[in-house]
Amino acid sequence: MESKHLQKFYDKTPAERITALKSAGILDEEATANLQAGLRLPQEIADNMIENQLSTYDLPYGVALNFLIDGKEYAVPMAIEEPSVIAAASAGAKLIAKAGGFRTTIQERIMIGQVALKNVPDSVAAEQLILSHQEEILKVANAAHPSIVKRGGGARRVSARILLADDVEGIPSFFVVHLHVETLEAMGANIINTMMEGVIPYLESLTGGEALMGILTNYATDCLATAECRIPAALLTKGVYSGEEVRDRLIEAYQFAYVDPYRAVTNNKGIMNGIDAIVLASGNDWRAISAGAHAYASHSGQYRSLTTWKKAENGDLLGSLTLPLPIGAVGGSINFHPAAKMTKEILGYQSAAELESIIVSVGLAQNFSAIKALVTEGIQKGHMGLHSRSLAISAGATGDEIEQLSARLKAEKNMNLATAQDLLERIRK
Ligand code: NDP
Repeated sequence: MESKHLQKFYDKTPAERITALKSAGILDEEATANLQAGLRLPQEIADNMIENQLSTYDLPYGVALNFLIDGKEYAVPMAIEEPSVIAAASAGAKLIAKAGGFRTTIQERIMIGQVALKNVPDSVAAEQLILSHQEEILKVANAAHPSIVKRGGGARRVSARILLADDVEGIPSFFVVHLHVETLEAMGANIINTMMEGVIPYLESLTGGEALMGILTNYATDCLATAECRIPAALLTKGVYSGEEVRDRLIEAYQFAYVDPYRAVTNNKGIMNGIDAIVLASGNDWRAISAGAHAYASHSGQYRSLTTWKKAENGDLLGSLTLPLPIGAVGGSINFHPAAKMTKEILGYQSAAELESIIVSVGLAQNFSAIKALVTEGIQKGHMGLHSRSLAISAGATGDEIEQLSARLKAEKNMNLATAQDLLERIRK
């Protein structure tokens, strides 16, 4: 299991952590040197990535440890500003690894594009025409992006949806054509947008309607990833609570987030703490993943918890997380951003599907840790302990003062900025 080089990882300095990752065989010579040199985005690249670029914006980049996913061990890079996310992910993953780790299932990697048509004279007839001309539509779409077809991917299916007019709100009816596209190792936004714009003239001539737009949907319901875990109750004991009590309270926490959208949003934000951090570290589009995940949380008609926690017949705790994960292993800035390249090196993932497995497992670990803390000792104990360093920095502490002030803050009843500033003054006297 955990390499001896990675023990007490959190107690090491950043330089020692890099050496430990090398000793554990996670980094080779070149990656170690790159990490030691820093992962700064060169100005020339940054200037070519966005418009009106001025500088770059740094975030801490670290690793969550102890992930055992489908029998393989991972140290998971994360880019995030929020304290406690990496600690919580590592702690959750460690306990789940003791129980056998995560098992994941990755659905087909199909992305969906839409063309919205208006003023279609006969929607029912148009739907028939779309379905009977599926082969022709696929041909036109694939001709718009031949290189993805050459690689073995391309448009696979066509479907149509009739969205009826809402006279009360004055909204017209829309006739929507969906193209289901296999984008292989890419997330596929640009591939699909090119295809959707490419099929517009043919769809207009087929339906007699007028296209409003053609664009990818981030609601990637054909690209679902699932992570599951099974934890014996005996592993869940915490403080005054027995393992069975913690299990039952975890299940109740899930039930609360199932029925109450106010709780569900925060529950899912916690899941996305970890997911966004690895998605960002991998050079993927975290806005796309977040938008799709939150939409999927409403797929039953009500916004609910993305995770489920249930009791198995033998009393084990069963956890599961499913969400759309249209992640790329190529494309965007993945192959040229120094941090994204480092993430690929550290994870050693061989495909976008493997990266999906890692990301969905991170989400489940994050949720497990968060709700376990919530239903036992409360979230603030661990959170504020880690937040004390950020508070110390906000109060103006530098160098050794940060550690000193953080330690004193942890002993305070009211850990806030005013207390931090007051304590810092006293340290400096
Ligand atoms: P890119 O267009 O950057 O890259 C995809 C290209 O990579 C493919 O077209 C293909 O080009 C090439 N490629 C090389 N190897 C493979 C492989 N094995 N499998 C698939 N493609 C391969 O990225 P995407 O189309 O994935 O789009 C993602 C980007 O689009 C992100 O940066 C995202 O932020 C942005 N975006 C997102 C939107 C949204 O989410 N709504 C909207 C618009 C843009 P070729 O075959 O020609 O070599």
